[in-house]
Amino acid sequence: MSDYWSARTRKLEPYIPGEQPGDRKFIKLNTNENPYPPSPLVIEAIQKAASDTLRLYPDPTCRFFREAVAARYGVNASRVFAGNGSDEVLAFAFAAFFNSKDTLCETSPVPGRDLLLFPDISYSFYPVYADLWNIPYRTVPLRDDFSMDIEPYLGESGGIIFPNPNAPTGMAISVEKLKMIAGAARRNKRVLVVDEAYIAFADEDGISTALPLIDEFSNLLIVRTLSKEASLAGLRVGFALGAEGLIEGLCRVRDSFNSYTLDRLALAGAEAAIKDASYYDGINRRIIASRKRVSAALGALGFTVLPSQTNFVFAAPPAGCGKNGQEFFSALRDRGILVRHFSKPRITNYLRISIGTDKEMDTLIDACRAIINNGQASGNK
Ligand code: PMP
Repeated sequence: MSDYWSARTRKLEPYIPGEQPGDRKFIKLNTNENPYPPSPLVIEAIQKAASDTLRLYPDPTCRFFREAVAARYGVNASRVFAGNGSDEVLAFAFAAFFNSKDTLCETSPVPGRDLLLFPDISYSFYPVYADLWNIPYRTVPLRDDFSMDIEPYLGESGGIIFPNPNAPTGMAISVEKLKMIAGAARRNKRVLVVDEAYIAFADEDGISTALPLIDEFSNLLIVRTLSKEASLAGLRVGFALGAEGLIEGLCRVRDSFNSYTLDRLALAGAEAAIKDASYYDGINRRIIASRKRVSAALGALGFTVLPSQTNFVFAAPPAGCGKNGQEFFSALRDRGILVRHFSKPRITNYLRISIGTDKEMDTLIDACRAIINNGQASGNK
């Protein structure tokens, strides 16, 4: 705390990202990075862009990258926005589409009409952005089995945001249900933001991107990232797809903040990634296959494993193993395996485990087995 902080800075409760260890070599399964390398074409494009042109500013409109996204997804480039990671796109979306307390007509927000809605168990950056922009919100509890009850999203609200598939649960709702929520939000003249950070790993019938709905719903914004599905967490590129009016709103916020959010190297790499769909389909299919294998193996060890449509699994260690979520997290860490644990009500016993290479997952499963056996051998002390 410094005397020089503004009142706003004093009030902030920043998001805490997963650990990026510097000192020790870990099997890193804590931030949902893709375990496979980016496409060779991405590296080539970045190397080519690392030239004397770096003395020039990048294209603030990100034209070539946006055109590549537009071609890949069959939309017009005017319906694509690019940002520095999807976190930045989300931060801009909060500012662009959800009213802050000071802009609401009433002195206090009306619960039905003015509160932004998102699930109680969801991406923990959402409440941080809401507080940053002073947006009033209400969290909607997931059901006991962590599935999403869509009913509360069909009434009035100040806007809606959630990831599909959800994080950290990994569970998804169908496009049919997304359509119902988008329709209800449109009737109330509110925006629905669907954060599709993990949609490339979904493979269940009826679960897929909401992209085909953007023609019908001018209030629907879809946010994507290259961090997971394109193995480019280190490049920081995200994008959004939606009606031109929404994209313009995002541009207004960006251009009131920083016109050059993507640098030349990122733009070159991102464009190459979007154009190499076949490479990424290959590695992401492997991740889906590993996820199924790991879910079954953890289940066989007695874990409660939620049905995942992502590149991670959310699982609680068996009740009889003598370790709660936090203790199991520490035991894995002691064995050189980093996973993610959230000290939050309802999920404190769960671990979020990113899908790594097959070898890494074998090591994880062996470690889980050993920790459980040790606990049982020592009488669950
Ligand atoms: N949305 C969700 C649901 C996430 O889990 C993450 C990753 N932390 C992000 C968005 C942000 O990803 P990035 O900023 O790397 O694009």
